Amino acid sequence: ASRRRTSTKEKEEAKPEAPQSTPQETEHQKILAGRKRLPVYPYREELLAAVKDHRVLILVGETGSGKTTQIPQFLHEVGYSKLGKIGCTQPRRVAAMSVAARVAQEMNVTLGHEVGYAIRFETCTSPKTIIQYMTDGMLLREILTEPDLSGYSCIVIDEAHERTLSTDILLTLLKDIVRYRSDLKLIVSSATLDAEKFSTFFDNASIFMIPGRMFPVDIYYTKAPESDYVDASVVTVLQIHVSQPLDGDVLVFLTGQEEIEAAGEILTMRTRNLGSRIPELIICPIYANLPSEQQAKIFEKTPKGSRKVVLATNIAETSLTIDGIKYVIDTGFQKQKSFNAKYGMESLIVTPISQAAANQRAGRGGRTQPGKCFRLFTAWSFQNELEPNTIPEIARTNMGNVVLLLKSLGVNNLLHFDFMDRPPSDSLIRALEQLYALGALNDRGDLTKLGRRMAEFPLDPMLSKTVIVSEKLKCMSEILSMVAMLSLGAGVFYRPKDKALLADTARMNFARGGGGDHMSLYRCYHDWAQSNYSSIWCMENFVQLRTIRKARDIREQLEGLCERVEIDPAVSVDGEVEPPMKAITAGFFYNVARLGRSGEYQTVKQHKTVYIHPSSVMAKDEKPPTWVVYFELAFTTKEFMRQVAPIEPEWLVEFAPHYFQEIDVAETNKKKKYGKARSKR
Ligand code: ADP
Ligand code: MG
Repeated sequence: ASRRRTSTKEKEEAKPEAPQSTPQETEHQKILAGRKRLPVYPYREELLAAVKDHRVLILVGETGSGKTTQIPQFLHEVGYSKLGKIGCTQPRRVAAMSVAARVAQEMNVTLGHEVGYAIRFETCTSPKTIIQYMTDGMLLREILTEPDLSGYSCIVIDEAHERTLSTDILLTLLKDIVRYRSDLKLIVSSATLDAEKFSTFFDNASIFMIPGRMFPVDIYYTKAPESDYVDASVVTVLQIHVSQPLDGDVLVFLTGQEEIEAAGEILTMRTRNLGSRIPELIICPIYANLPSEQQAKIFEKTPKGSRKVVLATNIAETSLTIDGIKYVIDTGFQKQKSFNAKYGMESLIVTPISQAAANQRAGRGGRTQPGKCFRLFTAWSFQNELEPNTIPEIARTNMGNVVLLLKSLGVNNLLHFDFMDRPPSDSLIRALEQLYALGALNDRGDLTKLGRRMAEFPLDPMLSKTVIVSEKLKCMSEILSMVAMLSLGAGVFYRPKDKALLADTARMNFARGGGGDHMSLYRCYHDWAQSNYSSIWCMENFVQLRTIRKARDIREQLEGLCERVEIDPAVSVDGEVEPPMKAITAGFFYNVARLGRSGEYQTVKQHKTVYIHPSSVMAKDEKPPTWVVYFELAFTTKEFMRQVAPIEPEWLVEFAPHYFQEIDVAETNKKKKYGKARSKR
């Protein structure tokens, strides 16, 4: 379905062929000459003609062909920028900044003037800006204030193959916008060949292919799985460096800053030990939080007689192209935003990449010459363990958060929202019901003020409500510790057989003062923090150091989120029980059970019979409380409530008036008395 045409009118505007590089050339002339050598350059006129003829165009081209840096410039050069801004979205902040800097350089303008970028909490644009790079999330925010994007003449949705949640939602919204804004040009650009899917979604929009210049890349697998891929990658870099000619740089895919720093340190140390016996190895890290001056370093030309090794996250998979790479080392992992349904948290976790991603990574070695890719996993694993394609983010996210996001964008009828990959209707309906019960939506289905704030947190709506309510109750600090500890699941405490009694005593120490498992977890975290995060303290209290350290990580992330929405994370009630337990009730009233006549608990929602898990600090309570809240249900031999705490029924009426009325609670007060009478006998 590829379509190409040449328009003579636009051909005249093309600049004359660049002369061959000469030493006298200025830096800028060299850059301009470089532009003309990009694979997209010969297709400039055909592409512009296709844009002229179509409202929506799907663009496919290998990474490095010049899609991101050149196409907005082409559009500007033929005058679209006179009609409105040219916007180009990127799923990653670093890519938006880096590409904007490059294009400003190519156009010889100051970054932030004609060419700018907008990422969350950092806008570098001006009223003069005509080409604006931005994250997909930022364009979504712009749609909030400007639903028809009237300030733009062209929108390029770049890296659409990444299928981030924001990109997916943008595609649906833009499909609608181009229907009534006939002057808006939409280009959906993707590095992979799944263009058909985008084309179908946009009512069979035309596909424009830019043939890449790809050289063959030999793929090597490891014979056995690697237990430590960071170390294995370092060994591979050194092997390449000492055994292969100096004509190509190395690109290593790792998962994040920590790994990249660790690999960088080991590499520095080992090359130092080899001393002058080997050529110089220049180590360049690239990851999201790297300061921008250092980011620029990866693009610097490698001096003669040395070799560059780029240690990158999957940002270098398709978002950024580094010239001169011949060797690719692929650990087979990435950090991916996933929603852990069990613990209600969205977080970045290390996951295996897909086959498609592995092939993209390998391709980075064959841009300018034949390359080699060393996969630090087995061929069997590639065939049998990797998913063929990356799963779109919408399928990995909490549905409640998708609904909050869409509602905050003013999308009212979610059941008719034209998703590219539609989530099951019943999961949408369940999410709507839950958000209504939590008070995030009102009875007309509109977002409330509370809901708008909840949308800021990448947490399960029950947790985000808890966090927000705790601000009013002045127990932020307690709740953040509690939430971080709850999200760890089981296994913070250990119980060696020969010291079971000691372990139980240590455990019950945290329970003193009441508030069940929730407050025990809080006290445990609090005491550990007081001990200055001591490992000895952990040993004495039978707490797993490695696990509780994760809680510290999560807590820090949550603090950051709170600061962003201007909630002070340090406000505390000094461990008082009632305020934090009220906050938990406000978020978790769905997970409430009450003691029935038979001495068994029944959930209020589905009237299921449930039991307190034997690991709970409440398991041996002589007088089980009438009302309890639990964090989750786990079915083993019976349906168990895990992480349980007592609550007062009045709190339910106070914090969940949609769900509980006086009468429900009054009725149980009677039952409570009845229950007591029975137990006396
Ligand atoms: P695509 O979007 O098709 O993957 P790009 O437009 O990102 O391609 O890249 C085109 C060329 O521009 C590549 O050769 C790349 O190396 C170069 N380039 C991009 N950003 C920079 C930069 N910040 N510094 C130097 N070169 C860059
Ligand atoms: Mg690109």
